Amino acid sequence: PEAITVQELANRMAEKGADLVKAMFKMGMAVTVNQTIDQDTAELLVTDFGHNVRRVSDADVELELDTTEDNEADLKPRAPVVTIMGHVDHGKTSLLDALRGTSVTSGEAGGITQHIGAYQVTLKDKSQITFLDTPGHEAFSDMRARGANVTDIVVLVVAADDGLMPQTIEAINHTKAAGVPMIVAINKCDKPEANPQKVRERLLEHEVIVEEMSGDVQDVEVSALKKTGLDDLLDKIQLQAELLELKANPDRAAEGTVVEAKLDKGRGPVATILVNRGTLKVGDIFVVGAESGKVRAMIDDKGKQVKKAGPSTPVEVLGLSGVPMAGDQLQVVDTETKAREIAEYRQGVMQQKRTTQAPASLESMFSALK
Ligand code: GDP
Ligand code: MG
Repeated sequence: PEAITVQELANRMAEKGADLVKAMFKMGMAVTVNQTIDQDTAELLVTDFGHNVRRVSDADVELELDTTEDNEADLKPRAPVVTIMGHVDHGKTSLLDALRGTSVTSGEAGGITQHIGAYQVTLKDKSQITFLDTPGHEAFSDMRARGANVTDIVVLVVAADDGLMPQTIEAINHTKAAGVPMIVAINKCDKPEANPQKVRERLLEHEVIVEEMSGDVQDVEVSALKKTGLDDLLDKIQLQAELLELKANPDRAAEGTVVEAKLDKGRGPVATILVNRGTLKVGDIFVVGAESGKVRAMIDDKGKQVKKAGPSTPVEVLGLSGVPMAGDQLQVVDTETKAREIAEYRQGVMQQKRTTQAPASLESMFSALK
């Protein structure tokens, strides 16, 4: 094998780079983690750490994470998670804002609403709907590519004056591929040139048969601008959600999905987590993708600090070791050591994938060194 950096070797041994540097210092070698070392030195280090090399593997990670199925009896109804998709300028943002009840696009003072990437609407009957605030096919397919299928229902927005456009068709295909039910919102119906019937007819060509055309896809005429048809749309989302019988166990260690994440100047790494099951609480220790952490604080979509978040609730989480990726899964674990070990192992795996010449596994690296 070629020369390897101290950090790479550390990653493959699931050890800390700093510990290797320390060990080498004791051997009389002053190096930094970024320095490359030769095979003999690497072998020496492997032997030196041999007795306590933690062979964390995929199997170990699986064991540490509680991924057991929930008992039917523990499941409680949860709010549907909705993504709005459609062609650019067909009114996705306007509709999201109209549904939220605050218009950000029109430049009004939004008040206390926080844009954290998702929000919840509470209906008159107190039931809730969660909207993913990151419309766009990229976010949707990025998340799906990462194994996250967070959306229960897609609302396809089609402008009645413009009809089916390339991104409309793309959205239809994404939705079909994900196997998610769709509701068609025919928007801009306030416009004189609006032709909702033509939209319905064109949808037929893509095997989207709406109720008006004797199909089973719900459709609704709306105007995000005039705020008409919104209750009708919310009703249809609820109806669709009832058919799906969405449930989750709120009384278990939380699991969630990263909706968006960023490095905030004042607050450090923050991630919006959509809780899938369980209840996430302040103080919980977690692993999220290749990062770990302890929930320091949680902020909801109204900018309010909350102590816990149940299924289908989006919350901004503070207290991460770094910035995870959209679509990464968050899992609550027992101890910080475990969380760190899993995160470090995953970082090692990621690094290994990036280094193309690297041996495929820790085992093969060990044998290669012999
Ligand atoms: P997005 O690109 O899909 O997010 O579309 P936007 O929400 O940004 O809307 C694009 C443009 O269409 C904006 O100028 C909106 O004001 C306008 N628009 C959105 N909804 C309606 C509507 O229901 N009626 C009319 N007349 N205009 C709308
Ligand atoms: Mg937009």
